[in-house]
Amino acid sequence: MADKVDKTEEEWRERLTPEQYWVTRHAGTEPAFSGTYWNSKEAGHYACVCCGQNLFGSAEKYDSGSGWPSFWRPIDKERVEMRSDTTHGMSRTEVVCSSCDAHLGHVFEDGPEPSGLRYCINSTSLKLNEEGANHELEQEPSTS
Ligand code: FE
Repeated sequence: MADKVDKTEEEWRERLTPEQYWVTRHAGTEPAFSGTYWNSKEAGHYACVCCGQNLFGSAEKYDSGSGWPSFWRPIDKERVEMRSDTTHGMSRTEVVCSSCDAHLGHVFEDGPEPSGLRYCINSTSLKLNEEGANHELEQEPSTS
């Protein structure tokens, strides 16, 4: 694994828009059906808006009806980490970027086959890169 991206709160605040900072660094949630990508059908990679690591692919994106971009799996399981989240009176599993700890969203067990998982991700946490849409699943992150 690549080294963790480690920046101070102040550095993140300078690099990100206020909404990006709130969602990714303070586990905010954008309103449903409000984000850039909930209904996006473009081919490409969805990268972490904070560190640029490619996290999800358009090929695994599906319409969950939730109003948030939904994927049934990440590009590679090493690229995200799961954490127990008991805030807001709920028991959920938080999904964060494995490289920079950005809050991405949550994962639920009501997704489609074959994984049965629904990665419910904030558009705000993502940046779509339309080039290189033909990623290979389970490929290790390239070193550059
Ligand atoms: Fe990241």
